[in-house]
Order: sequence, then structure tokens, then C-alpha cells
Amino acid sequence: MAIVSLQQIGKNYGSVTAVHEFDLTINDGEFLVLLGPSGCGKSTTLRMIAGLESISKGTLEIGGKVMNAVDPKDRGVAMVFQNYALYPHKSVFDNMAMALKLQRVPADEIQRRVGGVADMLGLTDFLERKPAALSGGQRQRVAIGRAIVRTPEVFLFDEPLSNLDAKLRVRMRMELQQLHERLGVTSIYVTHDQVEAMTLADRIVIMDSGVVAQVGTPREVYDDPATIFVAGFIGSPAMNFINIEPAGDYGWKSKDSSFAISDLNGFDTADLTSVTLGIRPEDIEVVARDSKTGDPWCFDADIRLAELLGADALLNLSVAGEDMLVRVGGVDHPERGHQIGIRIAPARLHAFNPDTGKALPRIQKH
Ligand code: ADP
Repeated sequence: MAIVSLQQIGKNYGSVTAVHEFDLTINDGEFLVLLGPSGCGKSTTLRMIAGLESISKGTLEIGGKVMNAVDPKDRGVAMVFQNYALYPHKSVFDNMAMALKLQRVPADEIQRRVGGVADMLGLTDFLERKPAALSGGQRQRVAIGRAIVRTPEVFLFDEPLSNLDAKLRVRMRMELQQLHERLGVTSIYVTHDQVEAMTLADRIVIMDSGVVAQVGTPREVYDDPATIFVAGFIGSPAMNFINIEPAGDYGWKSKDSSFAISDLNGFDTADLTSVTLGIRPEDIEVVARDSKTGDPWCFDADIRLAELLGADALLNLSVAGEDMLVRVGGVDHPERGHQIGIRIAPARLHAFNPDTGKALPRIQKH
């Protein structure tokens, strides 16, 4: 069993709080991703679990044992670093065998275990090479292999794909998925890349300035972001935000433009004097201009810029003076300078309290 339990874990560097106390249980065999921008505290959290950083507050348990004061090598964890951290003068075999030799594992067993993992990772032909004679992807595979041979209870990954080019990152991402399916080892993975988080994670922990902003499955954090920060961080291109305020009988209007909306589709705005509306670029469709007069979710828009991405395109629109990014499928999209109609999917609308940043509850869902 390798449940990892963080109980009111926190980290201070002198007077600076890098990680505010939080509770989290990582289930046995779960792939958990810590996601957030640079400096949000995700590496510090991972390093506290690894034992590379002391824990200022709270309790860390791995497999039911308190680990706060346990030596890193005795925690049953193996870590994979962004910069691979391989020994440059040792062969691939020796890099992978190092920890086992230190544990005085018999030579024939080391041969067998390293051989098996090398086979699994496609490294068999490179075992005698030094790291300098390997590509970035192969080096990272060696680093992963070195972690696997130790048969840890928990894998810790610190931005392991960040040094690879875009194409290789996609491939390694898939390999990591397959590896996790095969090994089923509890894994904690740090990244600032939301695509990596969405594709790899069973659950994502999104961190913002040392605070846990939301914990949820990829679908939950995408569909129901708990805060404006999460809403803006998950999804690419980012969600459109418009600040609106009550406009008497009409409904709601923007403070800075003539954008107005008659209905908020069931959000409980209580007595708020301002609301931040969130609309994902993929939740807006292009419709014939003036085709749906009377539909409160249809708007006229001017195309400021149209970017063809390949399978789809991004339209940079002005909607009653508000900038809005829309993602449309296909190559036959309308061009820059044209006027179009758009329709926002009401069920996909998001709304936030601009003061607290928190998502507004729904009183009813349309
Ligand atoms: P992330 O991994 O999300 O980029 P880190 O966990 O590395 O963020 O850092 C979180 C915060 O803690 C940052 O503000 C960083 O400057 C601070 N920090 C990290 N390590 C130290 C340290 N050794 N001394 C002081 N502050 C640190």
C-alpha cells in the first residue's frame, strides 16, 4: 500500500511562506499532478514528500508511516528530475544499477532488474553508452529507468519533460501513461504545463501563490473551475473574461463597453454589484448574422484577427467593444475584417465573484 497523506503540510523559508498548509490524500496507484505557474510552490511540495526539503508544518505519511524525519532514501520514493541528474562518467547500465549496488543487491539480480527495465524502455542497445552519447529523450528514459529499478512505492516527477522539444514531449507523455498503466505505482508529478496535467492526471492539484486553488479530475477542473485563477489557467487558449454589473431591468452590462447580457443563466449573484463572466473560446459558435434575433445568447461581432492553426482557427473578435477569442473548426473560417454573428452556449457559461475570485453557485441550470 502506498497511500501518501499530507496533513496540514506547509513550508516557510524564514518569513516567506512558500506553501500554505493543506490536506491531501493521494490514493494507492493514483497519478496526481501538481500544476501551477512558476513559483506557486509545487516543487517545494514535491521536495517535502521526497525528503529533499524539511517540512515546516504538518505531517507526511507514506504507506501509513509518518515520514517527516525519515531519510529520503528510506521513504520508498524515487524521483525523476527535469535535468535528468545522471552521472556523466557512468554508463547507462551503471546509472540505472547505482541505487541497487548501494543497497547491496546481488549482481545477478541487478543484471536481471536493469535488463528488464531497459527492455521495457527500449534502452537495451544503449546500456554501455555514457549519457553524453544519448538524445534528450533517451536520457530522460534512463532517469525514469533508474527510478523504476528501485521498485519504489511512490514515483515523484519534477517537470520531467520540460527539457524536451515539443514533439518528443508528446511521445514521452504517452510513454509515461503506458508505463503508469503497466506499473500502477502511486505517482506525483509536478508541471506548469496544463496539457501535460490534463492528459496524465487522475486528479490535478492546482496551486496559486502557495495555496491550493482546486483539487479535481481533469474534467472537473475544466468544467467547473472553482476560481478565476483556475479558469484562466486550465484550457488553451485561455477563457474570455468580461466584467459586468447590474443594469436594472435589462440585466447586466459591461462597465467599460456596450456589451450587455439579459440573463446569467441561473447563477446566484446574490447582491453582487459586479460579476466576472467567463466564456471559453470553444464554447462560442459562429452563426449567421441576425439569424437569431431575440436569442439572448446571440451577438454581433467584428473579426479583428483570424489565425489558422490547422484543423481549427482562432478568431479574435470585438463584441460590443469587448475582446473575445473564439475557436472555430475547419479551414473555411470567416476572414479578418468581416462581421459575423456568434452564439455563446449558455450551459457552458461561467461566473465569478471578482472580489474573492470564487465561482458563483448556480441556483438552477438551464
Ligand atoms: P514552483 O515549483 O511552483 O515553481 P517553488 O516550490 O520552487 O515553486 O517555489 C515556491 C516559492 O518558494 C517561490 O516563491 C520561491 O521563490 C520560494 N523558494 C523556493 N526555494 C526557496 C529557498 N531555498 N529559499 C527561499 N525561498 C525559496
